[in-house]
Amino acid sequence: MEKISRTRVVDLLNAETFGTAVNAKGWVRTRRGSKQVSFIALNDGSTIHNIQIVVDLGKFDEELLKLITTGACLSVNGILVESVGSGQKAEVQATEIEVLGACDNSYPLQKKGHSMEFLREVAHLRPRTNTFGAIFRIRHHMAIAIHRFFHERGFFYFHTPIITGSDCEGAGQMFQVTTMNLYDLPKDDNGQIDYSNDFFGKQASLTVSGQLEGELAALALGAIYTFGPTFRAENSNTPRHLAEFWMIEPEVAFNEIEENMQLAEDFIKYCLQWALDNCAADLQFLNDMVDKELIERLKFVLNNSFVRLTYTEGVSILEKAVTGGHKFEFPIYWGADLAAEHERYLVERHFKAPVILTDYPKEIKSFYMKQNDDGKTVRAMDVLFPKIGEIIGGSQREENYEKLKCRAAEMGVPEKDIWWYMDTRRFGTAPHSGFGLGFERLLLFVTGMSNIRDVIPFPRTPNNAEF
Ligand code: ATP
Ligand code: MN
Repeated sequence: MEKISRTRVVDLLNAETFGTAVNAKGWVRTRRGSKQVSFIALNDGSTIHNIQIVVDLGKFDEELLKLITTGACLSVNGILVESVGSGQKAEVQATEIEVLGACDNSYPLQKKGHSMEFLREVAHLRPRTNTFGAIFRIRHHMAIAIHRFFHERGFFYFHTPIITGSDCEGAGQMFQVTTMNLYDLPKDDNGQIDYSNDFFGKQASLTVSGQLEGELAALALGAIYTFGPTFRAENSNTPRHLAEFWMIEPEVAFNEIEENMQLAEDFIKYCLQWALDNCAADLQFLNDMVDKELIERLKFVLNNSFVRLTYTEGVSILEKAVTGGHKFEFPIYWGADLAAEHERYLVERHFKAPVILTDYPKEIKSFYMKQNDDGKTVRAMDVLFPKIGEIIGGSQREENYEKLKCRAAEMGVPEKDIWWYMDTRRFGTAPHSGFGLGFERLLLFVTGMSNIRDVIPFPRTPNNAEF
């Protein structure tokens, strides 16, 4: 076969000059045609669209033609011509075809319209479908948008550890990290596991959040963000929880809660605008196939301000809804942790817009959140989104050493685990704020998908780590 350097399908489809010899490589999505001619839809992942390859059957060897089946990988030399009928601007009239990889007939993606559940069982192949190709291209673009947003605003990308020795944030939902022999664990006199000979000389786990270390950095570099994998062994089989997910956590010195809210709103809107500007074809596909209101919803959120109210105000709206006859599964009263159904009621039924709830009861929030003067609430903020519920959780942090120490003790956080964190409050403390955005929750919103397992390439959930 003549050596012609490869042109990506996206570039072939955007070509302005025709009549030239080109090479395309990719996987066969469909093949149809007559006894004389075949039309092959070839896709190489560079775009949702396929390039049509026109094959004059008389010019090719029958044995070769037999191998051109759905899923096979081809290298095609041919002439790029302006297309008349294929719905695309360009197509390739094949002159030479090489089958790089034949595809045997057990290929599971033979037809269109597989269920999402089925596709999770073939997660090693699902990137080859239109839907998952679109999702993973959008996932890439969102990661770029996130880095650009913070970089443009002078934030520094800061790497917090994935293995951590402190469990003050997520006691009970952490994955342990050990090199000890689990069949023969050393015990101390009290029958407790002796970690002194473990790899780190102490109990260690996978991180549930980079926030505490992020705060150290913000109080030195001014404004930072983390963007990394996060692990939570919460045994909740919901469409919004993964055991391994990616989190973005900005932390900013001198920001108070109002600035923190504005940052969150600007940040999400920047990402949504980026998706509309850079992922138009993929979004259009998802809008047509997955969620007919997707693009409209993205534009709506972009063009409207997030509603801001306190937890206390939110709870009274929910209580009125109950009085008015609305049924929730979980009880609602001042002090209750809001369930997704409560969050979604506020967003979807009451305000019909994204909501930022602030000033939650201190009992249901973490020890490090800044305490309000009322003695009951803390300067927490959750951003609640349509279809999703909580997409961001954040707060202004308690910068006062004594108050923080007191609250940590009340909540049973051992000082030996957070002495280094407490030090920031002794050595030049400052007001500061930050939040965590679940990357996959953002992707749920941007793609219109309804299960979080379908916006990450290889989902980790209870009983599921196959691929
Ligand atoms: P939720 O109440 O929804 O379980 P959370 O309050 O435990 O979330 P935070 O600790 O505030 O979550 O984490 C910050 C953000 O990380 C959340 O707003 C959410 O977007 C995301 N997040 C948290 N847990 C998960 C998870 N298990 N899978 C995917 N994303 C998550
Ligand atoms: Mn939260």
